[in-house]
Amino acid sequence: MSDLRELYQETILDHNKSPRNFRKMEHADRAVDGYNPLCGDHYTVYLKFKGDFIEDISFEGAGCAISKASASVMSSLLIGKTKAEAQAMFERFHRLVTGALNPGEEAEEFGKLAVFGGVSEFPARVKCASLAWHTLHAGLVSNEAVVSTE
Ligand code: ZN
Repeated sequence: MSDLRELYQETILDHNKSPRNFRKMEHADRAVDGYNPLCGDHYTVYLKFKGDFIEDISFEGAGCAISKASASVMSSLLIGKTKAEAQAMFERFHRLVTGALNPGEEAEEFGKLAVFGGVSEFPARVKCASLAWHTLHAGLVSNEAVVSTE
């Protein structure tokens, strides 16, 4: 667990300092605003589709280190994936951060996402870590333009 904790620190620090895909997207297919009023995190997630594939993801906004790092990791993992793969990943991520993994499912199998499993002990942090994912989810499955964790 201490390796994972160290990796957690490193990943959060790195992605907070130099977030990937942190930019406004012109001509996005979807732009969804996500708010976490408890912490003050707010981001716009931009999506560009090509058929069933997510051709591009970017985000802008501001918030705590965990929320920003999570959005950054999410964007870097999901570009090039299908919408269905992104949905499946959203569901896995949600199980990971809420500590509700399926029997036999190990956090270590989650690759880069595994580091976020640590937030499951801190309910307020779960909202920070999952904000970008909920915002993405809204962009994939609904016409909502704004989502809130509250
Ligand atoms: Zn936060």
